[in-house]
Amino acid sequence: SHFSRRPDTAGKLRVSFEFFPPKTEAMEARLWETVTRLAPLAPDFVSVTYGAGGSTRERTARTVRRILEETTLTPAAHMTCVDASREDVDHVIGEFAALGVRRFVALRGDSSAGVGEAYKPHPGGYSNGAELVGAMRRQGEFDISVAAYPEKHPESADFATDIDMLKRKVDNGATRAITQFFFDNDLYERYVERVRRAGIYIPIVPGIQPVHNFAQVANFASRCGAHVPGWLAERFDGLENEPQIHALVASAVAAEQVIDLIDRGIDEFHFYTMNRADLALAVCHMIGIRPGSSEAKAASAAA
Ligand code: FAD
Repeated sequence: SHFSRRPDTAGKLRVSFEFFPPKTEAMEARLWETVTRLAPLAPDFVSVTYGAGGSTRERTARTVRRILEETTLTPAAHMTCVDASREDVDHVIGEFAALGVRRFVALRGDSSAGVGEAYKPHPGGYSNGAELVGAMRRQGEFDISVAAYPEKHPESADFATDIDMLKRKVDNGATRAITQFFFDNDLYERYVERVRRAGIYIPIVPGIQPVHNFAQVANFASRCGAHVPGWLAERFDGLENEPQIHALVASAVAAEQVIDLIDRGIDEFHFYTMNRADLALAVCHMIGIRPGSSEAKAASAAA
């Protein structure tokens, strides 16, 4: 049972939380409430996304700075290289480093024409995630995470091409991959097996997307190539106007996914929080990560 596994994992599980930079004061207040509630869980790091085409560069930097100044959390700044020259990208890396940022999540980004449109690199820019990792590595000893796709990236012809790009990211200095969200753990496990066979040994940390709003998640999933299993749709069916029941189901679904991954030997999780605390808190509680838990104590002792 899951209980008999508890002693094995106690003190060993690690989590990180992802936020997006707020647009308005109300959204900023909500993010800050979320950060305040999640901080006592002592995540390994918290990451702040970078809007399409670098549109949130200022807001990302402001959010990262506030985390550095007002909390003991370790921020990771997401960066993309879409629609920017090498000089611009190098400059932004330097700005983040000057703020005190030591961790990045390096992404290529998507075409401004929209997700799914053919990607065109900036003529004087870095053309993919691997080149961006290299640019970061040239400026310092950063901890660099990259994206990985258990169902392959929609632009990748096949898994071999996809995993080859991941290999280039690792060769250029990436130390961790975080996956696109997925709901079928078998797909993730098969992907990790393929990655290991390709000689890639960095952690492939599952990106967990708690289903705050099924319609939104299903819509987003279809654009980024993530499969929404029929059984998942079935579980949320009829809950469109039942927000409380929807949240209870979402909590059960996410906890079930994470506990199954723990049973498969996974001990590190990245949560796409959507700047909300409840579902991430509920799942962390279920797996024993709580304020003052051995995980939280080990992490704060290490900090
Ligand atoms: P890459 O790894 O460079 O490329 C993606 C795939 O396309 C590769 O696997 C490769 O097989 C294929 N490919 C690339 N170039 C070629 C080529 N020349 N020929 C053939 N195939 C090619 N987006 C944001 O805008 N901001 C964020 O903050 C952000 N955070 C993210 C965090 C995570 C954990 C994840 C999983 C995604 C995030 N994204 C973000 C989305 C990301 O920008 C998109 O998924 C984007 O389409 C790919 O970025 P990448 O770094 O994986 O690209």
